[in-house]
Amino acid sequence: MFLQSALLPTNMPTTVSRELLLHLLDTNSLTSWFQPIFSRQNGEIYGYEALTRVREGIVPPFDISKLFSKAQAEGIIASLDMQCRENAFCRAAELGFLKKNAYLYVNICPGTLIHQDHRGGITDQLAEDCGIPKERIVLEITEQEAIKNYDLFQRSIEHYRKRGYKIAIDDFGVGYGGLKMLSIVEPDYVKIDRHFIDELDRFPFKYNLVDAMATVCHKLGITVIAEGIERQEELDIVSQFGIDLLQGYYLERPSPQLSDQCIPIPGQRSEVYDCPDTLTSSCVIGSICKQVEPLAPAEPLMVAFQRFHSSNSLQGVPVVAGDRVMGMIPRMRFLEQHMIGPHGYGYALSRYRTVKDVLEPDFLVVEATTPVEKVVAQIQGRRGISLYDDLCVTKNGKYLGTVAISSLLDAITQKSIQLAKGASPLTGLPGNEFIQRMVVSLIEQKVSFDVCYLDIDDFKPYNDYYGFEKGDMVIKGIAKLIMDVVQPDGNNDRFRFVGHIGGDDFIVISRPHSSQQLCQKIIDGLHHLLPAFHGEREFIKGCYQATDRQGQLRSIPLLSLSIGIVSTEDCPVTSYGELAFLASGVKRAAKLKKGSAIVCNRRGVIQENSSCLAAA
Ligand code: C2E
Ligand code: MG
Ligand code: MG
Repeated sequence: MFLQSALLPTNMPTTVSRELLLHLLDTNSLTSWFQPIFSRQNGEIYGYEALTRVREGIVPPFDISKLFSKAQAEGIIASLDMQCRENAFCRAAELGFLKKNAYLYVNICPGTLIHQDHRGGITDQLAEDCGIPKERIVLEITEQEAIKNYDLFQRSIEHYRKRGYKIAIDDFGVGYGGLKMLSIVEPDYVKIDRHFIDELDRFPFKYNLVDAMATVCHKLGITVIAEGIERQEELDIVSQFGIDLLQGYYLERPSPQLSDQCIPIPGQRSEVYDCPDTLTSSCVIGSICKQVEPLAPAEPLMVAFQRFHSSNSLQGVPVVAGDRVMGMIPRMRFLEQHMIGPHGYGYALSRYRTVKDVLEPDFLVVEATTPVEKVVAQIQGRRGISLYDDLCVTKNGKYLGTVAISSLLDAITQKSIQLAKGASPLTGLPGNEFIQRMVVSLIEQKVSFDVCYLDIDDFKPYNDYYGFEKGDMVIKGIAKLIMDVVQPDGNNDRFRFVGHIGGDDFIVISRPHSSQQLCQKIIDGLHHLLPAFHGEREFIKGCYQATDRQGQLRSIPLLSLSIGIVSTEDCPVTSYGELAFLASGVKRAAKLKKGSAIVCNRRGVIQENSSCLAAA
């Protein structure tokens, strides 16, 4: 009470004094609010994050993180953390957390984890006192604080994990630990900091970073959370990336209650991928997959029956546990075998069975990025009655949707027609129309990418001297070389695209800053093809003698490649025309060099790549 007058400032405190901090602790003036974390998969609440608040009327609301930084500076973070954890457990229990099928996320400063006082099972005791199972508690460790003793830290984490707690890295991407923290903690969850989520639709750099972070975490088997979602556009993009869990003011703000609200399942539209009619998206199975609401294994069989009964077009329902697909229930066989049955008593006999009793575990499952042609080949490998069943699509191993065989056939036909419209007859590579649509779709999606414009040098005199037939062989040979370098596994996606502009000009689209290496490989590959193109003697000489159009005998250099690269990360463009203009500019600069050369446009400045020039 000795501080009472000083503790009731009329203005919001901009800094937290030691006195205020101690007073809040001594008078137990802190409480917990809860913000829901939603599952992208079903829109339901997956967990609640406990966030500390000062009880009403004590001080005007202020930035609560200042409390934690002050406690850190004053060396009393462990006491503050423990009180906050106790509040979180007790308050959650009072609000009926146990009845909810959810996790409780509590923030813990790394320093507290390794604090001697706190390794002796205080958290266990608190959780037990409040009746909260450890398996439903996720310890969120912020990445914002530097860790001095990684060994001790790692042992503490293990100590908690062994006893059942789950571990999350909070504020991922903005702190000290980064990838080192990831490899030491091997967390169950990673929360991507809201700095990256904020306006990621407007900043390609953030867009690509979040995509990359989610991909890496998924590869490591880590569940990803996006925090700080404030707009529909942000929600759409993080959902498209397959980020598993969603949190932010746009979905729900923290409140003194444990909310029960669900959100509409993000991205639940007929097309899961946004650009159904571009070349890239029509190539992969994910672009034509439909999000059919899955069934859980424990659901009554009658739920499956009702689903088929209410939709004549539903040909199959996937059965999913967590994110994993356990099997499919194909319409016709389900109705025949389980609802009608061999003697007509199927309905009566199956009434009390569950979905897991009838699911078919032998079904075709493919990743969203698989090209449709590959899927067709896999279907042809299937035999018997399941040949025409819907197939299941996953993204990073998690359920995404289903595809009917009829949709797959449509997509293949559509693609053939499109290709027939635009493909180069000589190389079979997509032509100008496709290239343009591809570039426009990438620009519209605000994705950063590199465009390489490749032009064969001295092709005209080659054609005149060696003849059209050999000229065609060169064009086809170089097209194959580019394909082999850019798409070594035969898969093409939007970042491994090869197009034939016409004549001796090609285009490659690749991930930002990956193109120089690719182009260097293409140049090296061409060097190996030169003996076949020119003959051994000319290859050794490095040139050949031919009469030019004025009848003059002159020495003509061997074939080489001039390559201009524009990275949209460095030179943001808003239209195809703008990009084409920049690409022609750098290609012209490359043409001025003797032999093979790569010239890049970096931040609007044309730069010659010396290593490439040297290698040429
Ligand atoms: P945090 O753990 O990253 O918590 C998320 C913060 O982001 C919360 O702020 C939350 O209210 C806020 N937030 C949630 N959605 C949005 C959104 O869409 N937009 C914006 N702008 N903000 C959003 P809060 O409660 O002020 O907490 C700030 C930080 O203080 C927390 O960051 C955490 O580091 C720390 N903190 C809060 N409570 C505790 C606690 O009990 N223990 C510990 N150790 N730290 C805590
Ligand atoms: Mg947190
Ligand atoms: Mg955070």
